[in-house]
Amino acid sequence: MTDLFQKLKRIVSEEYISDSIYVRHAYSRNVDPVLQGVPEYVIRPKDEFEISEILQVANEEKIPVIPRGGGDCEFGGSKPIGDTGIVLDLTRMNHILNMDHDNLVVTVEAGITWANLNNFLSQYGLYTGCLGPGSGLTASIGGGLSHHSVGGGGGAKYGSCSNQLVSLQVVLPTGEIIETGSQANKYSKSPFNRFGNGPDLSGFFCGDNGIFGIKTKATLQIFPKPPYAEYKTFLMPRKSNEVSSIIFSEIRKKGIDVYDAIFFMDLLVSVGVQNGFFPMWEDLKRKRGTIFYVIEANSEKELKEKTKQLDSIFISNKAEALGSEISEGNMGKWFYEEQGHWLYAHNLWGLVPGFESLDAECKVPIVTYPAILKDLDQWDFEHKEDMETILKIAGMRPVTGSGPIILLKGNTVELTCGFTSFSSYINGEYHPELEKLNLKLWKSILERVTKHGVMWYMMGDITSRLMVDIGAYNGEFYNLMKSIKKTLDPNMILSSGKYNFWNQ
Ligand SMILES: Cc1cc2nc3c(=O)[nH]c(=O)nc-3n(C[C@H](O)[C@H](O)[C@H](O)COP(=O)(O)OP(=O)(O)OC[C@H]3O[C@@H](n4cnc5c(N)ncnc54)[C@H](O)[C@@H]3O)c2cc1C
Repeated sequence: MTDLFQKLKRIVSEEYISDSIYVRHAYSRNVDPVLQGVPEYVIRPKDEFEISEILQVANEEKIPVIPRGGGDCEFGGSKPIGDTGIVLDLTRMNHILNMDHDNLVVTVEAGITWANLNNFLSQYGLYTGCLGPGSGLTASIGGGLSHHSVGGGGGAKYGSCSNQLVSLQVVLPTGEIIETGSQANKYSKSPFNRFGNGPDLSGFFCGDNGIFGIKTKATLQIFPKPPYAEYKTFLMPRKSNEVSSIIFSEIRKKGIDVYDAIFFMDLLVSVGVQNGFFPMWEDLKRKRGTIFYVIEANSEKELKEKTKQLDSIFISNKAEALGSEISEGNMGKWFYEEQGHWLYAHNLWGLVPGFESLDAECKVPIVTYPAILKDLDQWDFEHKEDMETILKIAGMRPVTGSGPIILLKGNTVELTCGFTSFSSYINGEYHPELEKLNLKLWKSILERVTKHGVMWYMMGDITSRLMVDIGAYNGEFYNLMKSIKKTLDPNMILSSGKYNFWNQ
């Protein structure tokens, strides 16, 4: 047993630390089939004090530490870069610490899932507004805040989950434990507001992809869930990419308060229906793009008025309403009433054995996504030989495009850009050439999309390094981020390798 392992074992009890090859391999990947990094140790800490001690040892020994929540990152963010380091699995820290009914805030440990927190809140008629990511059944609050996650419901009304953050407890890379927001005043009894006592240091840790500190506790705003809701799904006319973008813009320009509005492009609907991942659309006469909305209201009158205004936008753009039941194609109802918001993205992975998505998620202005979708088609055409090679090996041609396109608070949408491919193990056979090809194509498509000026928001291993490698960062922004990193983490132990700071 190494000295380091012995030191770590003095901090956490035996059952929560492992150097077993099986455990280490289980933590060596996230969702994609290409990026892997096998950690030396896996630890499941109990609280911020254990984390602080682990970080102090890691600094002494100069070993990387990688925080991990649900491990649902699609871009290799919650596994080591290279075969090294300690993965800190935070899912043991999953308690609800304080429910403040007067101030409508809740304080939780960062390893709790969005589903467990919202399940608890629902008994009081409350919810977190943005319900986190589409992976909210397993993804954690800490992971969501580290990614600015959005997409698991409520994105059009509340925006990214970090919008509703009030304060954080964070263990810095050198082991100090800090609190942000109202808690910067040591006389404040419990968190109640984010902005004040100096700059917004809570925001500083949001979207940091785990490089500036380890979030251990979070206080979030919570909201009463309105008693009335309406949801409708529409079949789009021709040129559905362009028309959906017009519809989203009109919703914003008319100031209609919509909870969610999500567009599925033509290709996604037809591949999805063919392969059975959108069963509610199997009877569609035309496999065209679809769009659904969800609105909430405090009275029937308010609901009727909003529905009327929204429907007029859809109808004037020649969209055709599907029936009101899920069996008639109303995905909006499934999404809002039956927790489809935490299920609709899952089938894009693992539809057939080995089938995987190689993508990344970005925010773009509403008006720009039709052009990006067109360019994705062009990119696919330019890479048709590589696509044919994958078809020959896997028996299915990759599909290039976007997943669901989600209207966000403000005038932006969330766009998933990428292609589906296969892992290098197919029917028990290993195809190393596929791994190389996947990585080459993945980087190529992300570079192409980056040059449209998009904003990647969960960056992990691949996108954070690619932005640097292709020189896409504004130099002053990147240099500031690098100096902050150096000040907070002089030994570069936390999430080493992300953003390629010192070509690690
Ligand atoms: C089926 C599916 C659907 C998805 N849908 C969406 C979606 O709709 N919207 C969306 O935004 N994303 C989506 N994702 C991506 C991902 O699941 C989310 O971004 C999610 O918020 C990640 O949470 P996690 O707990 O799994 O984080 P992890 O994958 O464990 O970690 C994510 C990043 O945060 C860091 N991190 C984790 N916890 C902490 C912490 N406590 N302190 C500091 N750093 C930390 C990690 O090091 C890593 O860089 C989806 C993924 C899948 C597989």
